[in-house]
Amino acid sequence: MRKFFIAGNWKMNLLRDSSVALVHQLLAQLNSSNNVDVAVCPPNVYLHDVGVALRGSLIRLGAQNVHHAAEGAFTGEVSCSMLQEFGCSYVILGHSERRAIFGETDLDVNTKLKAVLKSSMTPIVCVGETLAQREAGSTQTVVRGQCTHSLAGLTAEQMTKTVLAYEPVWAIGTGKTATPAQAEEVHADIRQLLESMFDRTVANSVVIQYGGSVKADNANELLSQPNIDGALVGGASLKAESFLPILEAALKIMK
Ligand code: PEP
Repeated sequence: MRKFFIAGNWKMNLLRDSSVALVHQLLAQLNSSNNVDVAVCPPNVYLHDVGVALRGSLIRLGAQNVHHAAEGAFTGEVSCSMLQEFGCSYVILGHSERRAIFGETDLDVNTKLKAVLKSSMTPIVCVGETLAQREAGSTQTVVRGQCTHSLAGLTAEQMTKTVLAYEPVWAIGTGKTATPAQAEEVHADIRQLLESMFDRTVANSVVIQYGGSVKADNANELLSQPNIDGALVGGASLKAESFLPILEAALKIMK
């Protein structure tokens, strides 16, 4: 059975003190449970402080990006080994902001994904269509294309160790959320694609998060969909009072 996985993507928000304070609030109020996997992904410069604050807890640490190379002349970049030294368990790859603002392609995501899979960290590969693509009726083609190219060359074992996040670009940071039915339709289609690329056992084992304005008031309905296995949360992950209800919704459904 797949386990819910809720991750907070803090993006380029919060400073050191507010990051650590947020972790303390989460730990003080979270009903700790092994039933749901939880991670927070701060900016790289706060990985150390946040990692120290999380020590001994069930909340894992994640990064928002990584460079594929092990080392070298890549100014401004960090490697998988560097993230692991900070205790990272997860790395977000191909977030729509990385794709749209920094020009990351499916090939870049695929190269990074293979590097992360060689480490002991778990990649979270983001896919999702823009509003124009949805309105043009090409959601399925776009998402299937992103999955096919980003996941190219993976073994079945590597696929089972990879988390996917379906994040319609038009729902990220906009307050617009895909309806549970819209999200479920894409999640179910991704699972069908995984079955054709690998097999049914692999397809059924892959955790597929939904992301795009997930909040306390829509988490329950979204997470209740059969193919939605968690959430990648941006804005609502920046405050304990908006992140915790999403975790509580997941915990309640698992019971
Ligand atoms: C995200 O950035 O991955 C995201 C889903 O953001 P938000 O929850 O703010 O829409």
